[in-house]
Amino acid sequence: MSASGLILAGVDGDRTWGLQDYVARGGYSALRKVISEKIPPETIIAELKASSLRGRGGAGFPTGLKWSFMPRSFPGAKYLACNSDEGEPGTFKDRDILRYNPHTVIEGMTIAAYAMGCERGYNYIHGEIFEVYERFEAALAEAREAGLLGQNILGSDFSFELFAHHGYGAYICGEETALLESIEGKKGQPRFKPPFPASYGLYGKPTTINNTETFASVPFIINMGGEGFLNLGKPNNGGTKLFSVSGHVNRPGNYEVAMGTPFSELLEMAGGMRGGRKLKAVIPGGSSAPVLPGSVMMDCTMDYDSISKAGSMLGSGAVIVMDETTCMVKALERLSYFYFEESCGQCTPCREGTGWLYRVVHRIENGLGRKDDLDLLNSVTGNIMGRTICALGDAASMPVQSFVKHFGSEFEYHIENKKCLVPPEVQYEGS
Ligand code: SF4
Repeated sequence: MSASGLILAGVDGDRTWGLQDYVARGGYSALRKVISEKIPPETIIAELKASSLRGRGGAGFPTGLKWSFMPRSFPGAKYLACNSDEGEPGTFKDRDILRYNPHTVIEGMTIAAYAMGCERGYNYIHGEIFEVYERFEAALAEAREAGLLGQNILGSDFSFELFAHHGYGAYICGEETALLESIEGKKGQPRFKPPFPASYGLYGKPTTINNTETFASVPFIINMGGEGFLNLGKPNNGGTKLFSVSGHVNRPGNYEVAMGTPFSELLEMAGGMRGGRKLKAVIPGGSSAPVLPGSVMMDCTMDYDSISKAGSMLGSGAVIVMDETTCMVKALERLSYFYFEESCGQCTPCREGTGWLYRVVHRIENGLGRKDDLDLLNSVTGNIMGRTICALGDAASMPVQSFVKHFGSEFEYHIENKKCLVPPEVQYEGS
């Protein structure tokens, strides 16, 4: 964890997560301001729009616009949900936010509830990170005790109840409608959309779902104004962003930097390439984002537009760095197995296709590849993409297409020579 930026600024490991330290860092001043000045909800949403904050969970959808979809005048319950179910390979930022600065999420969600007229919210926390769930529960208890959460917050007529919901560790529960199903106590499987959660969400009521880091950014936007937040980054890419840097770097970890920071600088912050080796490839936005050759990545800045122009996605900001000792076939085999394993099985193209992709890549890696296997991989991915209920089908297909596109010669070498281009003795463990 790098203690810089906004969300991680002033955070010192496990010692400073509590309410007292958060308040000392200026915490809950945004909520106090909203309530004491009776800032109209429309003004808050306008600031969010001006900030150009885009959803930090992967989709990058403008947060202010999403909030404006919530029908405030809807009679009856409206819900707020925080998606802390990060489970994609390479992504480990939300757990650090909840571990080291949980109150910023509570404050952000409370402001969101005020702006959208929600009286109840849930933070859905990935099932494999139990200590983070306990930490968030402890922070909730502190906030309730201090009158910052619950009935008549800070003596006002605004009330908001927030609960932690511990998931079960299934990757698919990070899909927003599967997450809602899971909170409702059902099997966590995605719903067909439309209707979208803004009109038919939790228990069939209007619901807004945002990522942990998105909510954590909200107090800063209220305090510095939408324009101030925007100016930290670049147009259409406001603010700072946490990047989970993993793979063949000297100091893997979370780094919070301004949007638009050159990739080369981020790599430098992570200690550069392990063993001084050459950069071969980077997955810039979590394992479902297309892989890019290292040379392409070195010309990119870390923002939605630059990465998208280069042919990939910023996604959740999980940057997986691979050096020259990486076998790209083996790397893809591992990723393909993940999606095969995590498919919920509802739709045929994803259920059957992910298994097909894994088996073909597995046989190439193990010296049993066939001449037409690369065409087969492209054909299977083409038949999955856009034909499934949720985005997992696309997420499983994009790595396959990009690995074959950029590193096809390695796959051909495997097929023709029944062995890896990179001798096993020089491959890093875990590459
Ligand atoms: Fe389930 Fe895959 Fe269909 Fe998504 S795309 S609903 S994970 S089978």
